[in-house]
Amino acid sequence: MDATVQNGGRPAAAAPAAIELRGISKSFGPVQANRDIDLRVEKGTIHGIIGENGAGKSTLMSILYGFYKPDAGEIRLGGRPMTITDSQAAIRAGIGMVFQHFKLVQNFTVLENIILGAEDGRLLRPSLSRARGVLRQLARDYELNVDPDETIEELSVGHQQRVEILKALYRRADILILDEPTGVLTPAEADHLFRILRGLRDEGKTIVLITHKLREIMEITDTVSVMRRGEMVASVKTAETSPEGLAELMVGRKVLLNVHKAPARPGQAVLEVCNLKIVDDTGVERLRGIDLTIRAGEILGIAGVSGNGQTQLLEVLGGYPEKGSTLSGEIRVNGTLLSLSGRTCNAAERRRRGIGHIPEDRQVEGLILDFAAWENVAFGYHDAPEYSRGPLMDHDAIRRDAAAKIQRFDVRPPNCYLAARNFSGGNQQKIVVAREIERNPDLLLIGQPTRGVDIGAIEFIHKRIVDLRDAGKAILLVSVELDEIMSLSDRIAVMFDGRIMGERLPADTTASELGLLMAGVDPTFRQPEPLTQDP
Ligand code: ADP
Ligand code: MG
Repeated sequence: MDATVQNGGRPAAAAPAAIELRGISKSFGPVQANRDIDLRVEKGTIHGIIGENGAGKSTLMSILYGFYKPDAGEIRLGGRPMTITDSQAAIRAGIGMVFQHFKLVQNFTVLENIILGAEDGRLLRPSLSRARGVLRQLARDYELNVDPDETIEELSVGHQQRVEILKALYRRADILILDEPTGVLTPAEADHLFRILRGLRDEGKTIVLITHKLREIMEITDTVSVMRRGEMVASVKTAETSPEGLAELMVGRKVLLNVHKAPARPGQAVLEVCNLKIVDDTGVERLRGIDLTIRAGEILGIAGVSGNGQTQLLEVLGGYPEKGSTLSGEIRVNGTLLSLSGRTCNAAERRRRGIGHIPEDRQVEGLILDFAAWENVAFGYHDAPEYSRGPLMDHDAIRRDAAAKIQRFDVRPPNCYLAARNFSGGNQQKIVVAREIERNPDLLLIGQPTRGVDIGAIEFIHKRIVDLRDAGKAILLVSVELDEIMSLSDRIAVMFDGRIMGERLPADTTASELGLLMAGVDPTFRQPEPLTQDP
């Protein structure tokens, strides 16, 4: 395929592309992660790579960074053929990469991390002072302020990411690759990152941004490539495409990007939480007095950067608070007080009370990966009357039921004998969602329902959640994806530092207001203004 994209107003024949990949292929055993990929990125542009989970984006960029050796194909940088054998070679060639999971040493300072591996070690002292000077300059040039003497573990995730970027710039990277950089950021931090990236582009650097968020592609990239199942399906100018067009290219069919739902018709309170507190075994207060109510027929969305108590809230509601923690407060479901400790505080008891749970980490809490899909569809509900024959489990009944659910939830492949681990992330999640939703719970707890799930499955899961709401059930939705919260929720609560920072109606708020709340700032708090104003 001709993946050529010409940059803006520049004459077509002017400079060679900053990055040119030709015919790159890479297999991992039977999986062909990249198939005959061509890609061209012009110098001084921001290029997006978008694609569903498993499309091969990270593999392609890891090849460019020397992390994997391609089975076939050619890499050219600035028109020159290059063999990039390892990341040291990539760094020498002017490439920097910010991975999804940072590679910083937690108990070292910013400065130490930045020069780590960049200097030849023996002369650490002189290079420290030189590095300090370079850092100061970079911080000034690109709004990349971080205290060089702070240790990494004291920094927020957003600042740690800045350190990764600084590290690349310190090594004089001309090409910067970022793999899903905003997943861990608040909206304000993401905006800041985008300002930095624009600044770098305007200085002539070339940026490759991997993301699955269409909004980010539209907002910041100049050109975008779409990958699907290991292939490059299109490269286009961002201004000449639309989110709908890109989504269709990603999935290979039309996708509904907006959740269609009628206004909620809330009934009586199903979940009532009053002054709920959790202190963990190290004495840290994880929940600092949570109050919330969810009625039948409504979705309460909880927004927040991960790590602000959402996990603890889901765990205690689901019946498995962390061992060694101390709980206080009250939780009522349909008017009945739930126990917070002891033998009656467990997941099975919660299920009997009509609480379903789609946990945040499906691979650890939602599935038994080595068990077949049919066993996983019954997981937790195996003692249900329809699954037993006298005192025994009725395996045939479970299998029949599982096969029907797998069919209805469009799990692919529709093979109920396959072990859970052999399904893709999206299909694993559909197995969990099928199990929990089809039990028809009064209250469904949902943690990160679409994390790592591709866009087609997201659409499907969102529809099922809205259907359950419309059937009069109460839903608690926890997600770090603000778009997901805003499109699904009937009410939105924002969690910060173990508290509910505020509650909003989706129609009355904006992403930036929620973002401030997520960062612990209440935007409705104003200094008193003088009573009179100038005419
Ligand atoms: P993306 O970044 O688009 O989500 P990846 O490049 O991570 O996709 O993965 C593409 C495919 O290659 C997936 O099917 C994935 O499971 C597989 N894959 C990626 N890395 C490895 C690896 N180190 N070993 C085996 N399979 C891998
Ligand atoms: Mg990836």
